[in-house]
Amino acid sequence: MQKYISQLNEAQQLPVLQKDGPMIVIAGAGSGKTRVLTVRIANLMSQGVDAFNILSLTFTNKAAREMKKRIADIVGNNEAKNLWMGTFHSVFAKILRSEADKLGYPSNFTIYDSQDSLRCIGGIIKEMQLDKEIYKPKQILGRISSYKNSLITVKAYFNNPELQEADAMSKKPRMGEIYQNYVERCFKSGAMDFDDLLLKTNELLNLFPEVLAKYQDRFRYILVDEYQDTNHSQYLIVRALSDRFHNICVVGDDAQSIYAFRGANINNILNFQKDYENVQMYRLEQNYRSSKNIVEAANNVIDKNKTKLDKIVWTANQDGAKIKVHRSLTDGEEGRFVAATIFEEKMQNQMLNGQFAILYRTNAQSRAMEDALRKRDIPYRIYGGLSFYQRKEIKDVLAYLRLVINPKDEEALVRVINYPARGIGDTTVEKLTVAANHYKRSIFEVMEHIDKIDLKLNSGTKAKLNDFVMMIKSFQVINENQDAFFLTEHVTKKTGLVQELKKDGTPEGIAKIENIEELLNGIKDFTEGQVEIDGARGALAEFMEDVALVTDLDKDTGDDDRVALMTIHLAKGLEFPHVFVVGLEEDLFPSAMSMNTRSELEEERRLFYVALTRAEHQAYLTYAQSRYRWGKLVDSEPSRFIEEIDDQYLEYLNPVDSGYRYKPVMDIDVFGDIDKSKLRLAKPKMGTPPANLKSDQPNPSANVRKLKPMSSNSNSGSANLFDSNLASGNIVMHERFGKGQIVNIEGIGADKKAEIRFDVGGLKKLLLRFAKLEVI
Ligand code: ATP
Ligand code: MG
Repeated sequence: MQKYISQLNEAQQLPVLQKDGPMIVIAGAGSGKTRVLTVRIANLMSQGVDAFNILSLTFTNKAAREMKKRIADIVGNNEAKNLWMGTFHSVFAKILRSEADKLGYPSNFTIYDSQDSLRCIGGIIKEMQLDKEIYKPKQILGRISSYKNSLITVKAYFNNPELQEADAMSKKPRMGEIYQNYVERCFKSGAMDFDDLLLKTNELLNLFPEVLAKYQDRFRYILVDEYQDTNHSQYLIVRALSDRFHNICVVGDDAQSIYAFRGANINNILNFQKDYENVQMYRLEQNYRSSKNIVEAANNVIDKNKTKLDKIVWTANQDGAKIKVHRSLTDGEEGRFVAATIFEEKMQNQMLNGQFAILYRTNAQSRAMEDALRKRDIPYRIYGGLSFYQRKEIKDVLAYLRLVINPKDEEALVRVINYPARGIGDTTVEKLTVAANHYKRSIFEVMEHIDKIDLKLNSGTKAKLNDFVMMIKSFQVINENQDAFFLTEHVTKKTGLVQELKKDGTPEGIAKIENIEELLNGIKDFTEGQVEIDGARGALAEFMEDVALVTDLDKDTGDDDRVALMTIHLAKGLEFPHVFVVGLEEDLFPSAMSMNTRSELEEERRLFYVALTRAEHQAYLTYAQSRYRWGKLVDSEPSRFIEEIDDQYLEYLNPVDSGYRYKPVMDIDVFGDIDKSKLRLAKPKMGTPPANLKSDQPNPSANVRKLKPMSSNSNSGSANLFDSNLASGNIVMHERFGKGQIVNIEGIGADKKAEIRFDVGGLKKLLLRFAKLEVI
């Protein structure tokens, strides 16, 4: 153990060596907070603390697994196995299952994902005959989520005139009713959504002192990573659980708080000292992750935020390369630049795909990156898009499995009651729903008693409903006797799901069958893994629990070598040798939706800080001058965040300065093929650089001009050539297409056009009235 402790610096050792009492470690990115947690847990165990008594909460389950592995390396596998580690959601889902009866839930409750929740809310809005444009399901779910995370139950909502007034003011006077219906519907379905997992845990701990006492006694040592992003609900759970022993260690960085939009409350970190007595506060200052350039540039940026704790972050690492800034004309070109750079780096420096990450503000930006990576055969993995388990065909199979475990699950039932088609129409389902709401029972229960309830259904329909019930019950019998793999395979055949897709015969249909096969493979792995671990047969319920809480990051086994693509939010806590932060444009990053107040802008800046500090050796900041957004080509300006970094840390790959241009990066679409000689950025050829510019260094004083996109007024040196004497053979410069030679001139006056062969972009015909050309 001593060996591992001595590998830490002195500041890191302190929170490891303090065994008891509340402590908080506040430190900047890459300073070893997560590492401190790992060594601290191992050290507690080596001092005799039972693994059962330690609870560690992480941002992803993957992070928990990695931590566990490291701890196992120190203290041995058998010891580490019993640690409670995982995300808030996965840990408390487990606890809720064993205590579910106290809250009136079945222990096999379903966990609704956001798709299920949205469907359910959509249905309620329809039944209440409300306007979908005003009551947008996504917005409604967002509100319900924020109520739940602030522990505002339906009852609390109706006791709070201010909340009701606020909803009425935003044209949603029936918000409370929707909330109530939604909660009732979930309860009736034996389902909890993600926010319930926290809300219900709070209820459990508040309402049942003996349960609270049990878990307080159990979790004698509690550790929380990324504490800055805990929301109120999570904060209360941690506080309740640690209230007896006060052995609570939280680590975080206020500068990396990026989930305010989901209710994360930075005050949790600021108030920690007030919540507990004798809090030890530790600070770590040395960054081990990144080069000096990156660390200092990141400090530079975060300095612009007013709301922050004063912190020092320094590094003994080398200066490293400057942060490279690249401008493209379009998002397509931006993608090609990123792909070309990765390609080149791999060739020249023997790097692996897995050493690169591409980070963006919004998921939609991945497409341009994917296209470019595919063209170069660079393998990649997208995290956080539509995950495997959210694909339709997979959700269909899972819906049947959910019904096997919990037949009350209404979202699952409505999803597959008539898929594949079995003659149970919408009207029948509506009648069943109304009856279920009336009797406060689940739809499945209504179906079980269909002969006793008068729903004016004909005997054919009743028989079909009966068949469905019998089918699910037969699956339940199989589930009791066979493993999850056997059952799932049986379900896919028996329900006709696979036949349905085979009938379809299109490439999409075939891909869907392959996905179902992939699901079966996953279940096989799971069941076999289970046998290996504890000799028990792979239980379906456990598999489903895994599926419900899995995040894309969790699935990453890291065994194949791929470039990682993800939003910055997901990248928290991770590190990569080379990081591209793309789409650094005003209105995109910072997001147009987050610039209304200073605090929103500061959150965007923290997000940028998180992005930049993921990089170990090289960071790239890229932006495009125009990009497709919402189906339209929009012009964009470089993000203010680039300007906020002192020039000494940056290298501009294509500075804008009159008469001084780099050749644009080669464009695959134009050349059709990859010409490696063009991959490297060309030295400036046109004109003479200003005296203070060296050929390979941008002008450090051109601080303001460098980032302004070329607009008409920045082009004052160019003549309006509408009526000037351009002739074939002239070499000209165009603000978008770069250098070219005039091949032909035609037309007169306002219709005068020039045909120009551009070095990059090929032959183009331009109306001189609009084209801003400069003869060089
Ligand atoms: P973030 O704020 O991004 O979550 P962090 O503070 O949790 O960062 P870690 O991820 O724990 O930082 O550490 C960053 C990197 O520095 C890791 O690769 C880690 O192994 C390494 N590291 C941390 N402390 C030391 C140390 N004392 N000696 C050598 N390497 C260290
Ligand atoms: Mg960390």
